[in-house]
Amino acid sequence: MNATVKIDAARVELLLSELRLPGIKLIKAALAETADKEGWPAARFLAALAEQEMVERSRRRFERHLEEARLPPGKTLDAFDFDAVPMVSKAQVQALAAGDAWLEKGANLLCFGPPGGGKSHLAAALGMALIEKGWRVFFTRTTDLVQKLQIARRDLVLEAAIAKLDKYHLLILDDLAYVTKDQAETSVLFELISARYERRSMLITANQPFGEWGKIFPHQAMTLAAIDRLVHHATILEMNVDSYRRKEAVEKARGAGRPPTRATIRGSS
Ligand code: ADP
Ligand code: MG
Repeated sequence: MNATVKIDAARVELLLSELRLPGIKLIKAALAETADKEGWPAARFLAALAEQEMVERSRRRFERHLEEARLPPGKTLDAFDFDAVPMVSKAQVQALAAGDAWLEKGANLLCFGPPGGGKSHLAAALGMALIEKGWRVFFTRTTDLVQKLQIARRDLVLEAAIAKLDKYHLLILDDLAYVTKDQAETSVLFELISARYERRSMLITANQPFGEWGKIFPHQAMTLAAIDRLVHHATILEMNVDSYRRKEAVEKARGAGRPPTRATIRGSS
């Protein structure tokens, strides 16, 4: 390499950092070598560089979105056993995982069912699939978010805190029913629901469908108004199945758990 080429290479390095072109920065040396060796026309080299920048940017965007979403790890649609919840159609869930039909109009998804039935798993798995499609998602336990919003209300910045959540196309509120009485009284949850109504989607999981929601909001009129807004454009998945954890434990005990003494006696007779 002669001196001018060396200086050019160093300048390019600096310029690419300054211009924030991480994809080009990563690939330029290897691509330039191929281009030189194979005698690529300049246009082809430029196109390849630009394409690489696109790929790298979308990879980084996906990683950013995955990190900000705070999904519980390891819960994917592939790992979800649809046979365990026969009332939930795999095709319907796959359609929801595309996002367009509901997230664009701010529709909601409500998952009801007893503990251990797979509500949180399904919610997180949908979140993951949607992030892969480019949507922005935020997963939180409902009580945690309510607590944050309560603090924001105290500091007189509730509106801004709710507006900040607008960047998420989907807000996953896990375990709505665990909101406590004192949390209900501040009605921040109601304000969140009202603010997102028909604009931004929510996925809510709860053990109880509506019956017990009286304790989540300070009075009945507000409970009804909240439910009204939530269900107006909503898909409801009722996951009334036995606890998956318990079922798994029982099956394990049945399979491998036979007492060894009995096994030995049988084997020797
Ligand atoms: P819920 O939120 O309804 O209480 P979870 O989603 O936390 O239930 O499920 C409990 C455990 O069982 C989790 O580890 C979850 O991954 C697993 N699980 C539940 N349902 C299924 C399913 N249909 N397929 C695979 N794993 C499941
Ligand atoms: Mg759960």
